[in-house]
Amino acid sequence: MINIAIDGPAGAGKSTIAKAVAKRLGIIYLDTGAMYRSVAYYVLKHGVSVSDEKGVQGILGGLEMDIRYEDGAQQIYVCGENVTPYLREPHMSKAASDVSALPAVRYKMVELQREFAASHDVVLDGRDIGTFVLPEANCKFYMTASPEERAERRHKELAEKGSACTFKEVLDDINKRDYNDSHRAVAPLRQADDAVYIDTTDMTPEEVIELVVRTVSEKRK
Ligand code: C5P
Repeated sequence: MINIAIDGPAGAGKSTIAKAVAKRLGIIYLDTGAMYRSVAYYVLKHGVSVSDEKGVQGILGGLEMDIRYEDGAQQIYVCGENVTPYLREPHMSKAASDVSALPAVRYKMVELQREFAASHDVVLDGRDIGTFVLPEANCKFYMTASPEERAERRHKELAEKGSACTFKEVLDDINKRDYNDSHRAVAPLRQADDAVYIDTTDMTPEEVIELVVRTVSEKRK
């Protein structure tokens, strides 16, 4: 089984790279951030605050998450509803970051991610894949870029989708999420000791994909 872990902060380009690498290797891509976003969607839909630990715990048992691939693209179904179209809305990023800090949520998602990785060749991207979810993963990467570069990329992506967010709002959100993700009690964002560090600030996506694919092939030899 091939398990490739790509961790790093928000906006580092992990999902673009993970998707392309999965395609090049003919394996599946699992976006674990989308799983936390789906939990946030479910919690908000139930009128519960994402930071209300007891409230979230109370409804977590009813959360059924099903990950499917339709035309090669990951779709997440929550209790039978395809929630994928709602996950990238700007308010969902902060909500996902808040809900992901709750231990009960993390344990539930980590269990699903481990089951998935045990039965599929997969590239997973997230914050804690190499350190906590799959410490035995064959290949681990820690991908980052300066906060300004990451905000610039996110801002461009949002503007292309018609969002009116300012650069400053996006940068503030990135900084807040970096802080939240690296200071939570359970499985905070950090580089695994055996992860390959990649700073993508001055690299094109093609250069990063090439580097990851080459490293994976060398490790598999
Ligand atoms: O990667 P993405 O921005 O979609 O992730 C949304 C949020 O989910 C992150 O800010 C982070 O707080 C959380 N997350 C996590 N662990 C992961 C993936 C995402 O805590 N493995």
